[in-house]
Amino acid sequence: MKKKTNNTISDCIKNYSENRGRPVKILLNFYRGQIPTLIKSTFFLTMQNLPLWLIPIITSNIINIATYPDKYKAADIWGNTIFLAIFLLQNIYSTYSVSKIYDKLIRQIEYSLRSSLIQKLQQLSIMYHKNTSSGKLQSKIMRDCENVEALLSSMYRSLFVILISIVIAVVVTLKKSPVVMLFFLVLAPVEIILLKVLRKSIRQRNSRFRSEIETTQSDVSEMIELIPVTRAHGLQRREIQKMDNRLGTVMNAGYALDKTNWLFNACTWVVMQLSQLACLAFTGYLAFKGKISVGEVVLYQTYFGQIVGHVNSLLNLYPQITKGLESINSIGEILYEENVETNNSILPLSDMQGRVEFRDVYYKYEDAADWTLNNFSISVKPGESIAFVGGSGAGKSTILNLLIGFDRPQEGKILVDGINMQNLDLNEFRSQIAVVPQSTILFSGTIRDNITYGTENVTDEQLWKILRDVGLDDIVNNLPDGLNTQLGEHGGKMSGGQRQRISIARALLRNPKIIIFDEATSALDSVSEKKIQDAVDNMMKQCTTFLVAHRLSTIKNADRIAVVDHGRIVEMGTYDELMEIKGEFYKLKKMQE
Ligand code: ADP
Repeated sequence: MKKKTNNTISDCIKNYSENRGRPVKILLNFYRGQIPTLIKSTFFLTMQNLPLWLIPIITSNIINIATYPDKYKAADIWGNTIFLAIFLLQNIYSTYSVSKIYDKLIRQIEYSLRSSLIQKLQQLSIMYHKNTSSGKLQSKIMRDCENVEALLSSMYRSLFVILISIVIAVVVTLKKSPVVMLFFLVLAPVEIILLKVLRKSIRQRNSRFRSEIETTQSDVSEMIELIPVTRAHGLQRREIQKMDNRLGTVMNAGYALDKTNWLFNACTWVVMQLSQLACLAFTGYLAFKGKISVGEVVLYQTYFGQIVGHVNSLLNLYPQITKGLESINSIGEILYEENVETNNSILPLSDMQGRVEFRDVYYKYEDAADWTLNNFSISVKPGESIAFVGGSGAGKSTILNLLIGFDRPQEGKILVDGINMQNLDLNEFRSQIAVVPQSTILFSGTIRDNITYGTENVTDEQLWKILRDVGLDDIVNNLPDGLNTQLGEHGGKMSGGQRQRISIARALLRNPKIIIFDEATSALDSVSEKKIQDAVDNMMKQCTTFLVAHRLSTIKNADRIAVVDHGRIVEMGTYDELMEIKGEFYKLKKMQE
């Protein structure tokens, strides 16, 4: 089972890459290799719908038997009834069987689509993620995949039934009365013209609606994240107004789509009903003249009704097909995205020492005019701690991002243990480093889960040691559930300082060779500040440490402090040395007092 699933995910990615920009082909290719399953489910689908096609014939038979008692026996009525009843009863089993076989197939396709998207999201570069809203991505994973599943379901079920019904009705009618057939044929061109007129509008409105929904989803998730800030500044009214405008745009886009869809439905319905009325008048006239039987009038009328209904549903499927194809394109926007993280994995780095050198590094963001790192060089020994300070926008976080491997410098090299990072296996490298990001990311779960994230087989003893190192032992001890205390979503129950120390504990537990610490900018009370300082001191003793510090007290004990300005180091030394020379660092320090 597992192997099959994996195959389907890679099939799904292959299908997209081979049929880039051709949604219909992608859709049909989902069925590749599934012919035996399709044959089996189509057999049951035929059985499921058989009563639908038999009802007009049996009805016509019974009316004819009743109308002409001299030609038939009463037993013929019972025979016809039992025959149809048997086919009606088996419908339960065949409907269930179709679902069992076909729905399993399409649910698996939906699963593979979602799984492929998740796989791709994990491969896309951090720069891509920084520029793309998570709400938009969520909408693709949930809504668009569901649309494709709905399309596969309705397309197969309706399209098959509709086509077979039309064929049966046409064959029976043609055999019994070619004249009546003429009425059936009148429909086709009328419907095709209608479809042509409204098709473009339906497609455009679907596309607009989809993009509005995505934008709204991203705005909603941003609004929810911002609620504490909004509340703190008393800006609820403004946020509500902003969201109302957005929701209004979605409403209008949805309304425009609905209007087009229903106008289309109404036009097709009226044309169909008028044709059916004409058919009734015509066959009624033929029966009046004795050319056909009363039973046949009912037969044609029922078949015609069925054809009308089916052609109608075929046309009504069109908006849904457009929606599904639009979702296939939307999923493609991620699967085709080329901004993936490159991992050359040329040289192994099994036992890292933690020596790092930035050699003449130049780095520029995609849309930036100037170099963010401008001929930046520094060499750091194993076990050394180095802190970067400087004004906002100086390039400090960029240095850390390059060291993690989130992006590569355009010029120059970053060497780890003397190996160019470009050639390293990033996963192997990252398994030996730990990162404490500026905004601590905690997830719903216990304190234990949050600290041990990504580390296995951790004993309580190890955990308590780390908690002591970061000064959280007292707090956790006083919680009724201790390490098993639930944190609430995004760690909402923790203070800023505590959250940051949990994040440091998470880093320390990995026993890394390099720690990269981007200090949070938010202000802390003096007790928390002291505790963070102690935690950082403990951290610096254990391995090579890179820090970006905003509170200059945090980095008092760093081996070296580098003052960064416009992507270059302008001053470097120990805390005492820099205070002594009364240069840039001294100025920064005075500003914080
Ligand atoms: P610091 O950490 O010193 O405050 P950063 O390294 O975050 O500075 O940023 C350095 C410069 O690069 C700033 O001018 C910032 O606006 C710019 N920058 C940061 N991230 C991006 C990005 N994703 N795209 C474009 N420019 C960016």
